[in-house]
Amino acid sequence: MFEGNWTCSGCGGAITSLPFEPRSTEGLLCRDCHGKKRAESAAPASDRPRFEGNWACSSCNAAITSLPFEPRDTGNLKCIDCFKRDKAAAG
Ligand SMILES: [Zn+2]
Ligand SMILES: [Zn+2]
Repeated sequence: MFEGNWTCSGCGGAITSLPFEPRSTEGLLCRDCHGKKRAESAAPASDRPRFEGNWACSSCNAAITSLPFEPRDTGNLKCIDCFKRDKAAAG
């Protein structure tokens, strides 16, 4: 542990020891805030950002208005129904 006298950038609380030597005193987080941040980043899949747009399914031509990823090739997109059906057929 490294002993010191730092300030948490999250809650402003004092940090007196860290498990690593901080390169910068900016942006340090106390154990509580670090734990909170980790919990946030481990949010369930439904809370992940979605990409909004106006695409069409290449299989059934249904409208696709949001995707869990940013599409690189919009000519070969599939709606969730076709995606599931393909997956079921493959497996
Ligand atoms: Zn804190
Ligand atoms: Zn489709």
